Amino acid sequence: MSHILEPSRHTPVRHDVDVLVVGGGPAGIMAAIAAAENGLRVMLLESRSFVGGNLTIGLPVLGFLSQQGEQIIRGWPQRLIDRLQARNAASEHRPCPLHMSITLVEPEAVKFVALEMLLEAGVEVRLHTLVADVVKQGHQLRGVITESKSGREAILAKVVVDCTGDADVAYRAGVPCEQGDAAGGMQPPTLMFCLAGVDTERLRLSIAHEPRTYLTDFIPNEYFGQNQQFIVVGLRELIKRAQADGLSIPTERTIIITGLREGEAWINMTRVKQVDGVDATSLTRGEIEARRQIEDIQRYLTAYVPGFERAYFTKTAPFLGIRETRRIVGRYVMNRDDVLACRRFDDAIAVASYPIDLHRPNDDGCTLEWCGDCYDIPYRSLVPTKVAGLLVAGRCISTTHEAMAAIRVMAPCMAMGEAAGRAAKQAVRRGVNPADVNVPELQAELLARGAYLRAAAAS
Ligand SMILES: Cc1cc2nc3c(=O)[nH]c(=O)nc-3n(C[C@H](O)[C@H](O)[C@H](O)COP(=O)(O)OP(=O)(O)OC[C@H]3O[C@@H](n4cnc5c(N)ncnc54)[C@H](O)[C@@H]3O)c2cc1C
Repeated sequence: MSHILEPSRHTPVRHDVDVLVVGGGPAGIMAAIAAAENGLRVMLLESRSFVGGNLTIGLPVLGFLSQQGEQIIRGWPQRLIDRLQARNAASEHRPCPLHMSITLVEPEAVKFVALEMLLEAGVEVRLHTLVADVVKQGHQLRGVITESKSGREAILAKVVVDCTGDADVAYRAGVPCEQGDAAGGMQPPTLMFCLAGVDTERLRLSIAHEPRTYLTDFIPNEYFGQNQQFIVVGLRELIKRAQADGLSIPTERTIIITGLREGEAWINMTRVKQVDGVDATSLTRGEIEARRQIEDIQRYLTAYVPGFERAYFTKTAPFLGIRETRRIVGRYVMNRDDVLACRRFDDAIAVASYPIDLHRPNDDGCTLEWCGDCYDIPYRSLVPTKVAGLLVAGRCISTTHEAMAAIRVMAPCMAMGEAAGRAAKQAVRRGVNPADVNVPELQAELLARGAYLRAAAAS
């Protein structure tokens, strides 16, 4: 690739804040609210026109409950769900044999409620603002460079929390990052889409009453007899029949998520291989290809899956959902064994229980592995190596490819966000680097403010 040399320029410093959170998804919303709790100057930057990240693409929140059925994500994440429930925009945490728990949320309501909560907390929210680079003094991160309709600007901060999902800030600051499996293969992305006019009663009762015809993965057919809001995963035989009949279906599994509105279903079935979510050309190919896949998937659902006979298309999610891109290399790299051995850590800042749920990069399948209970997320996995003044929360914390496939769901991402926000606050108050935060004190604050940690790890 050829290059040009840009002339040096004077970049205006638009803001100078205590804590800067980059990315307004599940992790970033929680980080900003928690950091702002006691009056620090906190700013949240979001590249899109709304906050919510993947909470707005038609997905249920997974992971509030453990494999034992205990609620392990509490604190601010629960307060968000409470506020959504007050508007009939979230369900209860419903136990699910495959996903531990599903909590349905209304995407449009998330945009309102999360923004409302951020503003109430005193967070300065800046939308339409992409972080394009960083400001550093030696190893110390001093802030970020943004690009927006206002041009190129600098925003300085005492501590930056990277909640971009892609580790954009960390990567640009020089934190070592990894991407994908040993061969660089990443979980494929999906463009979610929504159908209305679905007879979800017919769907669930067909599955409940005709188990030989409608085979689901891991979720017993009786479950569908008892639950009116549910996720269907499976119906592999129906897909094979549709493929034999000439339809192009890019996945082995039917994944249907009932919406909160009657007759609504979100479909998680487009799948584009070899998309690099941090490369704009590759992302564009992903968006185009996923959109092309929808027509045959819709044909499949209406012709083969009971309850979809009169279904009609209403919308796609606002963007292609990216499962995996960069992960930072932090002070501790969480791995598959940590998840499967239900590992406890002295510096635990969140507890998760979601299984390893890995959409394999190079075929149409998925690998699932459960540990039977909970595992801790250590603070050190939020603390990057090589760069000071920075924390990371959400799916891009320091893990291996396999461990990321477990901690990536939105309830643990929110819990990590809350912990990172509180840690950033403590670092600013004490004038220390986030790496030197007093972890027992952080754990005590998390517990005092309603978050969940396992007793032994917090003592
Ligand atoms: C198709 C799909 C299905 C999934 N299914 C489920 C499910 O059913 N349930 C579940 O709980 N989880 C599910 N997940 C996983 C989950 O959605 C994500 O792992 C989780 O949302 C990660 O949260 P996050 O806050 O780290 O990042 P995100 O939700 O990606 O939020 C990151 C935010 O940062 C912003 N941002 C990014 N870069 C910049 C930048 N440079 N400058 C400014 N802003 C920036 C983005 O616009 C976004 O708002 C799924 C993921 C995908 C893609």
